[in-house]
Amino acid sequence: MSFPIRVTIWNEFRHEKINPRVTELYPLGMHETLAASLRKSPELTVRTITLDDPEHGCTPELLDDTDVMLWWGHLAHHEVQDSVVNRVHQRVLDGMGMVVLHSAHFSKIFRKLMGSTCNLKWREEENEREILWVTRPGHPIVQGIGDHFILAREEMYGEYFDIPEPESTFLISSFGGGEVFRSGCTWTRGAGKIVYFRPGHETFPTYHDPNVLRIIDNAVRWAAPIGPLDKEIFGKRELGWINGK
Ligand code: ZN
Repeated sequence: MSFPIRVTIWNEFRHEKINPRVTELYPLGMHETLAASLRKSPELTVRTITLDDPEHGCTPELLDDTDVMLWWGHLAHHEVQDSVVNRVHQRVLDGMGMVVLHSAHFSKIFRKLMGSTCNLKWREEENEREILWVTRPGHPIVQGIGDHFILAREEMYGEYFDIPEPESTFLISSFGGGEVFRSGCTWTRGAGKIVYFRPGHETFPTYHDPNVLRIIDNAVRWAAPIGPLDKEIFGKRELGWINGK
């Protein structure tokens, strides 16, 4: 892996502008709270972009300069242009890591990468606790986490979660109501590594929790490409190439 890892955090950035409770928790937006945490690591260079930026911030130049992208969306998945989704998708196939957070399970980019509905059950209560159990001890993404950690207040997401069988499931949550959920999962698509990490409902202080921030930092490092991204992976081959003809 080459350092620094170039990280781009994409946030829809709408709840923070319309819900005072969210503004209070994340005055500069969830993307800036996450960025401030990741910037403590000298191995990471971190930029933020939002839905309302031109091309949603996902210009070809920015993608060419990104090793790992984080994605948080909820209200406005439908506003993300398909041309931008296709561009991000191709960059993942070329090897860019993708860390998909919470309600971005319904984002266009995650659904395109998964090829399934990504539907799930949900319930929002004031005081429902979530216990996140480590199901892959030793996995790099749960480095520094004990056998579980607890979030006192979170939104419930429950199975069935319509995703392709993950290549690894590193966390399973249980909720106050009894439901369970695959909260930490990984896949590869092309040369790109993909992480889904569940917590992060906007009205709770989840992105201030040290365990959550540790996992996001670990996930960025895990998803980073090993070497320079190779755009030739899906290139056309002429007959006779192996003989140098
Ligand atoms: Zn939510």
